[in-house]
Parts: sequence; C-alpha cells; structure tokens
Amino acid sequence: MKGYCGKILKVDLTNKTCTDVYIADEIYENFLSGAGLAAWWCYRNIPAECDPMGPDNVLCITSGLLTSTGSCITGRWMVVTKSPSTGGIGEANCGGTFAPFIKACGYDIIAFHGASDTPVYLYCDNNGPVIKDASHLWGQDAAVAERMMVEENTIPGKKVPQACTIGWAGENKSWMAGVCNDNGRIAARQGVGGVMGSKMLKGLCFAGTKPVSGENPAEIRRLSKMCASRVNKAFMPPEIPTGLLNVAKFLPEMQLSPDGIMTGVLMGTWGTCGSSQFAGQTGEAPVKNWGGSQKEDFHIKALSRTDGSKTLRLQTNRYYCYSCVYGCGGELDISKIRFNDEGYSRVHKPEYETQWVFTGFLLNDDNDSMLYINEYANRAGIDTISLGGTVGMAIEAYENGLLKEEDIGFPLSWGDADSIVRLVKMIVHREGIGDILADGTKRAVEILGPEFAKYAVQGGGMEPPMHDSRPDPQQATLYAIDATPSRHTSGGSLYYGCMHLWKKVTWAPPAVLVGGKGGEWEISDEEALKVLACAYFKRIVDGVGGCYFGFLLGTGIYPIFEWTEAATGWGATPDDLMWIGKRIYTLRHMFNIKQGLDPWYSRPHPRMVGEPPLKVGKVAGKTVPIDAKIMRVWKNCGFDEKTGYPLPETVEELNLNYFLDSPIENFIKEVPCNG
Ligand code: SF4
Repeated sequence: MKGYCGKILKVDLTNKTCTDVYIADEIYENFLSGAGLAAWWCYRNIPAECDPMGPDNVLCITSGLLTSTGSCITGRWMVVTKSPSTGGIGEANCGGTFAPFIKACGYDIIAFHGASDTPVYLYCDNNGPVIKDASHLWGQDAAVAERMMVEENTIPGKKVPQACTIGWAGENKSWMAGVCNDNGRIAARQGVGGVMGSKMLKGLCFAGTKPVSGENPAEIRRLSKMCASRVNKAFMPPEIPTGLLNVAKFLPEMQLSPDGIMTGVLMGTWGTCGSSQFAGQTGEAPVKNWGGSQKEDFHIKALSRTDGSKTLRLQTNRYYCYSCVYGCGGELDISKIRFNDEGYSRVHKPEYETQWVFTGFLLNDDNDSMLYINEYANRAGIDTISLGGTVGMAIEAYENGLLKEEDIGFPLSWGDADSIVRLVKMIVHREGIGDILADGTKRAVEILGPEFAKYAVQGGGMEPPMHDSRPDPQQATLYAIDATPSRHTSGGSLYYGCMHLWKKVTWAPPAVLVGGKGGEWEISDEEALKVLACAYFKRIVDGVGGCYFGFLLGTGIYPIFEWTEAATGWGATPDDLMWIGKRIYTLRHMFNIKQGLDPWYSRPHPRMVGEPPLKVGKVAGKTVPIDAKIMRVWKNCGFDEKTGYPLPETVEELNLNYFLDSPIENFIKEVPCNG
C-alpha cells in the first residue's frame, strides 16, 4: 500500500445511493491524495458556473496521503467544494482525531453529490456506508450533534466512532459556516459548512478499522522518531516572558527565521493564542478593521488585558491532534466567565485568530466576551475570522452613519462587548440584520450598497485573517495569488523563513535570517519564486494531510518530502513533488476560471495593502506594490502576466489537458455498494 486507499466513496444524496469509485494510480502520482485529489474530483464533476448552494455542487471530505501511515503531524482532514463566498474552489481543514477514521473505512475521499430533501447523515464502518435519518439532530449545535451521532452508533466492545458535523450556521446555509469535529473544532473557511447544509447533510460518523500503510514503514517510523525527538517541549515557562516581547517589537521587519525546535517549544507551551501580544506589539495584527493602530487605538494597557496569557490561565489541560508531536491544543474552564448563560465549561482554547479578531481588531478589551464567542461560534460552526471581520464592517458602517440603531436594534460601537456578543448571535441565527451579515462582507455590500465597500475588508470574497499584509509583501501577495484567497495558511515571509525549502528544492531562493534586510519590497523573480515555493509546498502539505504548524519546524525536522517518498516509493525528489504542487496550484486556478472568475478577482481590499497607507503605528507609511507583485508571480508560474490565465504551454507541460479532458472512465471504475 502506498499510503492511499485508491478509492473514493461517491454518495448521491438525491437518490440515496453509494458507489465505490476506484481511482487510477496515475491520478495519485500527479495530484497526491487529500485536497489535491479532491480538487481534481471537483474539477471533473462540478459543472461550469454551478450554483454553490445547488445540488450540482460536490462536497468532498478527505484525509491526506500520509495520514495513518506512521508519520507525524499529518492528521488533518479537509473539505473541498465550490465556495459560496468566493465563487471559486473552497477549501478548509481541521485537526483533531477524525482524519484517520476516513481512511480506516477504506476511502481517501467521501464525495457528496446531489442534495437530500430531508436531514441525513452518513454512517460508515467496515461493512460499508449507510445514509441515516438526521431529523433528530437538525437544530442541535455541532458539539451536541456530534455526541449524539457517536452515542447512537457506539457498539459496546467495538471501536468508538468519530464524527464531524455542521452546527446552526451550516443549517442556516451561512457563507461563513464550517464543519466541526472533536467537540467544536472547525474546518472553518469559505462557507464549506453552508454547502453541507444546503445538501441537508448534518454530519458523518465513521467507525472503520481497516489498516493503512506505506511502502516503507520502517523508514516512515525512523523519520517520525527523528521529528519527535527534535521537538523539545520542556524548557519554557507557561507565561509569556515580557522581555521576549520587548525584544521582538524592536525587530525591523517580520523576517524571522526561528529555529524549528524553538518554534516547537512556543507552540507546545502556548498554542497560537499565546502569540497575540507579540502580534499586537509588532504590527503583525490588524487593528480596528484594518483602519487603526495599536499605538493610537488599542494601547498597551488594553493589549495587556487581552493577551494570550489571560486565556492560558484558564487552561486545564493540553491536547494533541492525531499523530502530532507539538500538542498546541488546550482545554479551558470558562464556567466563571461573564456572558456564559449556557454554563459552558470545558471548551477549546481559542486560536490566535479568534483571540485577536474579537479583541484588538474590534478594540475590545473584554477577554471574557472573546472566550464566550469562541465557544458559541465553535458550537454554531461558524468561521470566527469572517465573523469578526463582518462585525468590524458593521461597527464601522454604524460609526459612519451607514447603519442606524433601527437597522440593528441597538447601538454598535468599537469595544462594546455586549453589543458584539448580541450581533454575533444575530448573525449565527440569521436574525434581523444578521440575515444579511451571515453571508459575509462581500455579499453585504451587494445587498446594502457600494458605499459599504470601504469598510468591507475582504479579498476575493474572503475576510482576511489577523496577519497584517502591509509589513509583509510576501503575505500580501500570497493572499492574492492563491485560488482560495485571503488565507494566511499558504505562507508569508515568516513562514518561508521557517520552512527552509531552499535546502531541499533546487530553485527555491534562500530566506534572509533574523533582523536582516531582504528583498521583500522588490519586484523580482527571486521574490516571486519564494511566494510560489510557499504556494506549491502548501499544495503538497494539503495533499498529504500535514498540519500547517509543521511548516514552522522546517523541512529538515518535518520531512514531508521524505515521508511521502517512503510512503509511495515513487522515486520522487523534492523538485518532483513541488512540480506536483505546481500542477495542483494551476488546476485550482483553472477550476476558478471554469466557474467564471477573472483571476484578478482576488486582489486584496485596498486597506490590506496600505492604499492609502496608515499615518501612525508599526505599519505607517507602508503600501505594498501589489499589482506588480501579482504579475511577477504569474510570469514565474507560467500564467499570462497581465490576465492571470495559465498559458497553453503551461497547461500542456503539466499534462493537465490529459487529466482534465480525457474521458473520466480512463481514470476511474465505479462499483455500486450498499447504500
Ligand atoms: S500543531 Fe496543533 S493543530 Fe497542528 S496537528 Fe498539532 S496539535 Fe493539531
């Protein structure tokens, strides 16, 4: 076995049938598994200009090629579909313990076609799939629905199943809804949960026990042992040392290339939320809906009331996702916080994104409200980045007279924790103005009017994460040039410095080390290649089920290339695998073009690139030359420099005509199974 199962489960929700689809090896050899295989399946099966909320859309749930092979930090599962928020390919992923259960049922992807007219969920074990009634689960929050699905399918003495499910936001077809697992973790972005809700699919519950292996298990184990032994988690204190932050704020640019072991310590000790004060002080975190600064608007006292240390004081225990050696997860006891009328107690620690977007980004120094929203949003199954960005737009529109108290039902203002919590609930449940805001900022502008566009900070229909692109042109460019725009999980100069790709990939330029001056602001082929190296590498990571935070260890400690070779035995070098990354990258753009998108659609909102530049704060005076940056990237990946369309010779070179236009029967064999 080469790590993958060689099979997709196709579930026709309209006709309630299930089909085993055997996939030719050459598809894996050219697109990997996971999100790469799913992108190919979506391209082949989703018709041009399809309604993302209609039955013609296809929703894929997948784990990665390396998942369950014995490799470390490779237990992510992914959702791939056509996104309602961008109109292009939609992708979200999550950790926890669900991913290995997909392959343990014998499948690389579960592909949902059509739509049910009543609520259903999919159960699967070694005996095959069964489509079950979910009417008793519809209306439950994600955590409750997951528990119910697991309980009703648990057989004493047998392996306890694992499940993923949508919450209220997905049922309400919100364009900001995600899919949840492990009691409120979430594959959040691009409205993938709304697509699942449109199919009346509440969840998946899996209990398979089929083995998975790679070609060379001993080599996979050897590499995993090396990786685990290099991630030293033992010597940092639980509180963030202020001295470290004070040093960090004097760094000239975000050009860090931290040692991978150190990064492992930071992640294991604090998780991502621990970086919020660092981000606030260095200018990494956008403030006041990208219109303000920490210096003027969210001063140091407010910052200190909401830094990650406050959150970490409530931590009761840490946890690891499946196969992880970092363990950045943690649970909190929030039973004593304000707002918590529901009595939520043991909850997931917020990620940095949530920690910042509901505090500094909205000038809110009430950490309790952020903690409460984190749990409420996780149960509702809604993306906190898009949610916070949309709340930011509403507050600024109110401040500038575009929204009135009668439009909302109460006044809105920066930092008013009570009104922020109220508005969040209205959005989740589509109440009042929340019905419009539930589909994000771009859709709100279409409904409310172009005068809102100034405050609707998004790129390609996605609200950007809490990583300011003005001090980091690489980050800004990656927001724009990925087919799933405005996501921080493709890279940026900090991440590129961590990845150490230049040590393995012959054409990847070296990064500048700590504090040095690089060429990030230049328009050059070298800078474009760094961006593309991030983009192609991410396609590999999502193909094998790797966690983004594995990036931070560097490819020396996190040997994705070597693990993939040990699992598949393809004889593929890092350059060969990056070529596959390029093929997937190009395919995803071709998906977007097939769906009618102009490649320029993902140009970031002017505020994200400093148009006009801020006058004060860490990012004052900075404007990213984004158009020239984008065009230089397109030139270097074989796209038309001006239009962004892949050139015919690039498509030919990548053999994409063959994989996309040949009869699909050349690549698959369908066998009906029990449905
Ligand atoms: S680093 Fe964190 S999110 Fe990633 S797999 Fe490990 S515990 Fe999960």
